[in-house]
Amino acid sequence: MTSHWDAIVIGAGPAGASAALPMARAGLSVLMIERRRRVGFPVQCAEYIPRILAGEVNAPEAAVAQRVGTLRTFIEGTLAAENEWPGVILNRVVFDRHLAERAVAAGATLWTNCAVSAVEDGAVLVGARRLTAGVIVGADGPLSITARSMDCAHTEFVYGLQVEAPLVAPMQHTEAHFRPEFLAGYGWMFPKGTWANVGVAVARPAAASLPRLLDAFLAGLRERGVVEPGATRARTGGLIPVGGAPARTMRGRRVLAGDAAGQTDPITGSGIPAAIQCGQAAGEAACNDLGAYEEEWRGLLEHSLNRALRHRRTQCAEWNQGSFERLIRRTWIAFPEYYHAQ
Ligand SMILES: Cc1cc2nc3c(=O)[nH]c(=O)nc-3n(C[C@H](O)[C@H](O)[C@H](O)COP(=O)(O)OP(=O)(O)OC[C@H]3O[C@@H](n4cnc5c(N)ncnc54)[C@H](O)[C@@H]3O)c2cc1C
Repeated sequence: MTSHWDAIVIGAGPAGASAALPMARAGLSVLMIERRRRVGFPVQCAEYIPRILAGEVNAPEAAVAQRVGTLRTFIEGTLAAENEWPGVILNRVVFDRHLAERAVAAGATLWTNCAVSAVEDGAVLVGARRLTAGVIVGADGPLSITARSMDCAHTEFVYGLQVEAPLVAPMQHTEAHFRPEFLAGYGWMFPKGTWANVGVAVARPAAASLPRLLDAFLAGLRERGVVEPGATRARTGGLIPVGGAPARTMRGRRVLAGDAAGQTDPITGSGIPAAIQCGQAAGEAACNDLGAYEEEWRGLLEHSLNRALRHRRTQCAEWNQGSFERLIRRTWIAFPEYYHAQ
């Protein structure tokens, strides 16, 4: 078995598969190493992407579960805004598999059920084997060991818990729910035909309460008559890095992309489009000038990421102080104040 590769990509999620594709197309020998047995499974995501970023994501029709038209924002149970917010709810198992298969079709090698246990500059350990590479792309998600190897592991997360719940009637909109008990986070309902992803994400001090918060949230949706009383399914959850990106996302021959790089939006928790854009930028830079990556992705995202980070800091500092509604109106994407802040 080959032990030296032009590029090793750790993680075959959206960031990793998007990084592998341009490198494989350019004729580099590329190895993607994925810990899971099946790419994309289990899903740890609410699967929403806004249509304005659909071009970057370029999802095949088979990976689209449903289209939506508007976003309704509720503050303490009251509808506070309805915005034109077209987007798609993905089927992420299909979507992630599509991205990985595309990279493999271009020539990348994929090892599944295989975890990288340590990362060095230009080498990774897989069990007792040491593999070397000209470039290592750390696309290994929120708890990235590549980031840890570069002394920039994430420390700030929100914690999410989600189920699929049966809908009383199909919906054409998404919902975001803000309540004081959803500490520096929110609840969501994203429809997928006759079911919806219903979840809650909160900051660490409230994480232990997530099962109770999600149950209460579901009970409220049933009371409103939008969710059926029947059983839920597909309980899942995960961490979302919300502390922003480290000062440097590359060091020597290691680069980070996606959640591993903290490119996830700290207010919405959205990270699929950024993972794809930045993964691709990392892969393209690796084919030409790796050093160009840092400037490239920051040019694409840093402005909106920094704005979201400032709003998150405000939420964390002021969550239980003053008017809750005013705070949400200043710090949530559905309100003009969000975009006015410097
Ligand atoms: C509850 C929840 C809801 C979310 N909802 C949305 C949403 O609606 N819209 C949105 O845009 N984003 C959402 N996100 C965020 C989104 O899921 C991530 O931003 C996105 O998956 C990032 O892609 P990635 O490729 O960087 O990381 P991941 O998708 O996490 O992929 C990383 C991969 O690396 C693998 N891996 C990790 N460590 C190793 C290792 N040591 N060796 C080998 N493989 C390894 C993992 O198994 C995984 O497959 C949500 C996240 C959560 C937790």
